[in-house]
Amino acid sequence: MSNITYDYINDYIREITPESLGILGRIEREAKETDLPIIQKEVARLISVLLSVKKPKKILEIGTAVGYSAILMSNYLQEGGKLITIERYDIMQNAAKENIKEAGLEDTISLIEKDAEEVLPILDDSFDVIFLDGAKGQYNNFLPHCLRLLKKDGLLIADNVLHKGTVAKLRYDIPRRQRTIHKRMRSFLWEITHNSDLETCVLPIGDGVAVCHKK
Ligand code: SAH
Ligand code: MG
Repeated sequence: MSNITYDYINDYIREITPESLGILGRIEREAKETDLPIIQKEVARLISVLLSVKKPKKILEIGTAVGYSAILMSNYLQEGGKLITIERYDIMQNAAKENIKEAGLEDTISLIEKDAEEVLPILDDSFDVIFLDGAKGQYNNFLPHCLRLLKKDGLLIADNVLHKGTVAKLRYDIPRRQRTIHKRMRSFLWEITHNSDLETCVLPIGDGVAVCHKK
C-alpha cells in the first residue's frame, strides 16, 4: 500500500506506462525482486517529462544507489552534457560503476564516492537540474547548498518528501523514532514552499516528490 494515493490509481498508471528497455528495464526488474532502492515508476516518468522540457546541460544527483536515475536522466542531457552523482555507500558505488559502464556512459556520468555532507560545501559548480534523493534526514542541511549550486531557471527535484505519508500526519500520530525525520522533512518542505526565490509544488506521487523552479 502506498499510503499516499489509492493503490488502484497507482496500479492503473503503472499498467499504461510502457516497460523500459535495455539496462533501465533490467534494473527495474532486479529492483522488483530485491530491495534495490530506485525511484518509483511514476517519479521516473515525471522526471523524464521535466527534463525533456528543460534539456539540461549539467545535472547534480545526491544519492546514486545503483545508478538507475542517473542513467535515466542522462538520456535528457544536451549533447556534451554532464551528470555528477554522489554516493557514500561502497556496495552501491560498485554496482553503479558497473551499470554506468554497461550503459556506455562513463564519459557522461561522474560518480563521486563520498558523503554528500562532505562534497556539497566544497562543490564549486552550477547545475540546471539537481535531484535530491539521499538520506531524508539531511535534506534540510543540503538545501542551502542545492540553492547555491542551482542556476537561475534551474529545477530542484526532491524525492521521498512525504515518507510513506508520515510527513502529512500529526507528530503525535507517528512512532517516536520517526519524529526527528518528520520534523526535519516538514521544515524542508516549509522552507521550499516559502522561499521567495522558488516556485514550488509538492506532488503526492511515488513517495512524495517536490519540484522547485529557481526564479
Ligand atoms: N537515485 C537512486 C536511488 C537512491 S536511494 C535511483 O533512483 O536510482 C538513496 C541512496 O542515497 C542510497 O544508495 C544511499 O546510500 C545514498 N545516500 C544517502 N545519504 C547520502 C549522503 N549523505 N551522501 C551520499 N549518498 C547518500
Ligand atoms: Mg528515492
